[in-house]
This record gives sequence, C-alpha cells and structure tokens, in this order.
Amino acid sequence: MINYELDANGIATLTWDMPGRSQNVINGESCAALFAAIDKAVSTPEVKAILMTSGKADFIAGGDLEWLLTATQAAELFERTMSLHHALRKLETCGKPVAMALPGMTLGGGLEIALAGHYRVASDNPKARFGLPEVTLGLLPGGGGTQRLPRLIGIQNALPLLAEGKKLKAADALKLGILNAIVPAGTEIQTARQWLLSQTAPVQQPWDTKGYKIPGGAVLSPAIQQLFMAGNAMLRAKTWGNYPAPANILSCVYEGLITDIDTGLKTEARYFTSTVLSPEAKNMIGTLFFSMGEANKLAARPKDVPVQKYSKIGVLGAGMMGAGIAYMIAKANITAVLIDTSIDAAERGKDYSKKLLDKQVQRGQISQEKADAFLARIMTATEYSTLDGAEMVIEAVFEDRAIKADVTRKSEAVLNADAIFASNTSTLPITGLAQASARPANFIGLHFFSPVDKMPLVEVIIGQATSDATLARSLDFIKAVGMTPIVVNDARGFYTSRVFSTSVLEGVKMLSEGVAPALIENAGLKAGMPVGALTMTDEVSAELVYKIDKQARADLGAAYVEPAGMKAIQKLVELGRIGKKAGKGFYDYPENGKKFLWPGLTELFPVAAQQPAIEELVERIIAIQSLETARCMEEGVLTTARDADVGSILGWGFPPFRGGTISQIHSTGIAAFVAQCNALAAKHGERFRPTATLQKMAADGTQFYTR
Ligand code: NAD
Repeated sequence: MINYELDANGIATLTWDMPGRSQNVINGESCAALFAAIDKAVSTPEVKAILMTSGKADFIAGGDLEWLLTATQAAELFERTMSLHHALRKLETCGKPVAMALPGMTLGGGLEIALAGHYRVASDNPKARFGLPEVTLGLLPGGGGTQRLPRLIGIQNALPLLAEGKKLKAADALKLGILNAIVPAGTEIQTARQWLLSQTAPVQQPWDTKGYKIPGGAVLSPAIQQLFMAGNAMLRAKTWGNYPAPANILSCVYEGLITDIDTGLKTEARYFTSTVLSPEAKNMIGTLFFSMGEANKLAARPKDVPVQKYSKIGVLGAGMMGAGIAYMIAKANITAVLIDTSIDAAERGKDYSKKLLDKQVQRGQISQEKADAFLARIMTATEYSTLDGAEMVIEAVFEDRAIKADVTRKSEAVLNADAIFASNTSTLPITGLAQASARPANFIGLHFFSPVDKMPLVEVIIGQATSDATLARSLDFIKAVGMTPIVVNDARGFYTSRVFSTSVLEGVKMLSEGVAPALIENAGLKAGMPVGALTMTDEVSAELVYKIDKQARADLGAAYVEPAGMKAIQKLVELGRIGKKAGKGFYDYPENGKKFLWPGLTELFPVAAQQPAIEELVERIIAIQSLETARCMEEGVLTTARDADVGSILGWGFPPFRGGTISQIHSTGIAAFVAQCNALAAKHGERFRPTATLQKMAADGTQFYTR
C-alpha cells in the first residue's frame, strides 16, 4: 500500500502505491498502512525528515466512497474520522520536516493529506488539479480540509474551494499558497528532498506556531463576519436549505476557526459524520458517482459487439441542435459533415462552433492553431453525396415526419449498408420514423438536449426494429463524444419529456386552483427544481406544450386523457401569451428590464383567499415526477432505476439532493411513498394514484435498488 524507504540522509520516503488499482484512495486498508508508516517514521530516531509521494500518475484520488458508505453508525464513523486526524496531527507536530511531492491530481482527501505536510511541491502537469470537491457529492472534507486550508490561505480564499468545490490548476494553487513550488514533471521528489535537507531546526505548521494569526482576518474580525453573513444569505438563496453539506462546511469553518486546530478537527469530524449519514449525501453519491459512473462505462451496452470507431459522421439540419451536435463531433476529433437545404444555412450552423471556439481562444483555453484544426473538421454541404463513407448520420431537421422520411431515404441512398441512422426527434416515436428506412435495424433515436455543448445527456431510444449492434455502436459514439447515455424504449415523449412535462403541468394546474403565482414559483425552487413551473413553461413556450398535446390528442383518439394543467396552457396560447420568445407568457419580458409576473394572471386565475402550505405544493411537484417515472418503469419504457435517476438530474434538473426520480421514492420509503400518493390522489385526483407495481413493492418490501 505504502512503501517505506529510509535513505542515508535520514529521509523516510512514504510512497503511496495501492496494488491492483489505477488510483490511490483513502480506505480502511490504506489508512491502516498510512498510520503504521507515520508511526514508524515519527518514532524512528534515525529518521530526520519525511517525504510523502505516490507511485501512480496522481497523488491520492480522495476517499473511497464505497468504503465510506459502509459506515452506518455515527459513533463508528466519528472514530474512524478521528483516527485519521490523530495520525495527521502526529505527522505535522513531530518536529521533523514533512514534504509532499505531488505528481498529478491532488483532490479531496488527497489534498487534505498533502495539507498536513510542511511543504508541497507539484509537478508541472497540465492535467493536475487541486481542490476539495467533496461538496459536489453532498459531502464535506473530513480529513481536516475545512480546518487546515483556511488556516493556510485565509477564510475568504478558502470558502469558494470548500463550499463550491472549485478545482484549481497548479499555477492558481501556487498563487493562493496551497503549493510552495511547481517544478518540471519528474523532478518533484528531488525538489522535496532538497527542501527537507535544507531544514536545520524543527519544523512546525503555522497554526502550531506561537502568535499565529489566520491570514486575512480571524472569524470574529468585522471583514470575516460580513463574509459569513453574506455567504450564509447567498447559500440560502441558492439552495433553499436543501443541501446540508455546504451549510455544514460554513459551520465547520466558523466554529472550528474560533478554536484551536485540535478542537476544530473534532468539530469537523462531527459535521462530517452527520453529513455522510444524511439521505442527501447517500442520494448524491449513489446517482452522481455510482450510477453516472456505470452509465458512462456503458453498462447498458450489449456485449459481444466490436467497438465502433468513428471517423466521419453526417449531421442533417444545421439549426440549433444540429450546430451543437456538429460541435461535439468535431471536438471528439471526428469529421462532421453538416448538411442543410442551403449552404448559407449550413455555414450558419458551423458559425456556432466558430463563436464557441473564438471565446475559448480569447480566454486562453485553446490555441488558435487547435481552434482552426477543430473548425476544419466541420464540413458544410447541401449534397447527400458528401455523406459517403460516414459511419453514422444524425438528423436534426424540422420536427416533421415527411421531412424526416425524405432525409432518411436520401441518406441511405449514399451510406454504407451498416451505417447507423439516428434521429434527434424530441416527440415523434422512433418506430414510426423507422418506417421510412430501408434498414430499420440500423435506425435509432439519439435525443440530445439544448444547448448540446452544455447538456451532457443523450437519451437513446430503441425502436421496435433497432438491433443490439446499432445500440452498442451508438453507445460507442456517445462515449467518444464524452456524453452520458441513458437507454429507453420507444414511447410517446420517451422518458425525459414525458416526466418533465408532468412537473410543469402540475405547477400550471395550481394556477387554476387559485394558488398565488409567486407561491407556485417559490414552491418549485423550494422543491429543488432549477426554476418554477411558470418560468419553465415560458422558456419552452406554452405554444409548444399545447402543440405536442394536440398531436397526442390526434394520435391517441379515444384513449387520450387531457393532462392536468392543459386548460390553463390553452388559455394563455389563445391570448397569444406563448412565452419568453414572444416577450409575454406567464411573465412579462420588458425589453430593458427584468421579467415580472404578468399582472393580468390573477384576473385570469383568481387567487383563492386560503393558500395551501408550500410543503404541500412541493410534495405534489416532486411526487408527480417520481410517480410518472414509476409508470415508465412499469411499462418498460425504462428498464433500470439507474437510467431514471441519471436521466432526471441531467435531463431536466430534477433536484440532485433527491438523487433522481427513483431515488426519491427509495429514500422516502416505498410504503411511505405509496401512502403519500394515495393521500394526494384523494385530494387532487387519479393522476396521483400509485401504480400496481409500487403497491406490490410496498407490500412485499422489494426495492428498485439492491445496493
Ligand atoms: P431548427 O429549426 O433550429 O433547425 C432545423 C434545421 O433543419 C434548419 O436549419 C433547417 O433549415 C434544416 N432543415 C429543414 N429541412 C431540411 C432538409 N430537408 N434537409 C436538411 N436540412 C433541413 O430546429 P432544432 O431546434 O435544431 O430542432 C431540430 C430537431 O431536433 C427537431 O426534430 C427537434 O424536435 C429536435 N430537438 C430539439 C430540441 C430543442 O431544444 N430545440 C431538443 C431536442 C430535440
């Protein structure tokens, strides 16, 4: 785990090198090895100095989350945490100089261990990042990070790193004083040795030195008091109290830095324990780390299909979606052929990439040369013959069956027999679109989200005739462009659009019940949604929601059931208040000013004298989404809880602290969720009636997740 070597100069080198793993992590085994190595180095008189480094490309990747979640008892977790604190305190207070030689990534627990050294030297590695990103998984740094970092670089500099999980490049970490030096790759150990040999007197951490003052001001200084007041308010505005981790981080810094370091570490261990055991952390780790990791590793990929490499992909339609898709293809070093009805339209689509690249060049994120080469990978055309040799074509033309059928036939006339034809339709069932194809086994849905370069999800839709090979090779494409797939079966609205629309319509339905518009919006935010239902409707446009419903009405005939909230949508459309793009919807959008709720709204939907509690509205907004997801599972639209959870967070911003639509049911408890839905159904209608499978699961105790 940790190799221990003592040289003739009295330097003990502790090299982390966990066998059978590509990364070093902090877990039970490595902690035991670390504690033993520290004991030995500290207590051996021949050891004059201590150097810690890694035998891997990176230093330590952080805590092993699987191991972390094995602790279910607060007392056990607290003791575990305190034993790491004791060991690191022993190391930094032993008087012998301690240097950390950091070859690459030094994140989370890795940086916390590095902070227990007296000197940190990093390799000049462009891939290396330094930071404490625990908060992004609903955790807080539990290895002393909330105590050592602000004591080292000041509270004001440390808070964004701790509470937002910002990761720094080496040069920025050096500027802040987190690193002492950056040296050419491969010389960091040598530099650390030189520093150790140059130390003649016993070495202490600044915070163990007499007269130590926190750089930039103590907790109770006026400037830092103001910082905490503003910080608290900003956090509250952003999170609505839904995320314990960042609030606990602020508390750790505030309470811990008023006291000495040992008391501070104990304070951190208490907050860490309660944060790890919170449902929010379990939900976020479960979905954002484990499920997302599985999705990115293509867990749904049929085996035994050779991996498809891509060199050329056609994109039909250079509008908003096509332009973004072409950008992602070129970014992955693949040639994109962008086709539209006129070369001007195709060039406009290519301009989208040019604009993004120009910005990156300006910011110094990419060289002009690389940007030029990137852009040269996007070819524009009107002729389908340019698709010759493409392994895949993605169509993003108008949402019109006839146009889509036409471009399918034109493409297939040129493409090789095994090329994949993918549709980016947002509403049209894939099986129907595949009827235009001469080889429906190669036809698949790849539903991207807007803006494509910012939204990492692709909803893969399997049509009735789609082959396993087409699915496998399409997933290879998604991996190649660095996006995250979920796989669903063909159905109206697929998964994401179908469930997302229930949350919007539930909010709009509240309007017709007399709920005050501002209360509806705040309930959405308090539930943890990115925006309220009325804002969201304005963004996507009431007209589009109405149009999709009209199509469903026509397609379904007698089986059609009008969704809750649709009458209110219709009223707005009839008034021409179709949304943000028209400058008027539920809100008014003045040309030079902030949007505000349309005053006429309360005439159209009179506000009831008695308003419901916000908690009841939150419950409805969340339960309707989880319930519709359970229906998707029952109908086989979704086949795994993993895809449901990942798709809901990445696709439409379902609150991450809830872990996704299914994790929400899981953490509520299935029986409790069924009871909640039954109560809502009694009050608000049959749309809340729990499914047969849910009722059965509640009765027999089965779960969506086994982990
Ligand atoms: P858009 O109107 O911005 O772009 C469509 C482009 O297709 C236009 O440039 C048009 O000139 C071109 N086009 C039309 N007919 C063509 C033909 N026969 N051959 C080649 N090009 C043709 O539309 P968009 O928002 O980019 O949407 C495109 C598709 O993606 C639609 O199916 C839509 O439902 C789907 N989609 C849209 C979103 C979204 O948020 N806008 C999200 C997911 C999926």
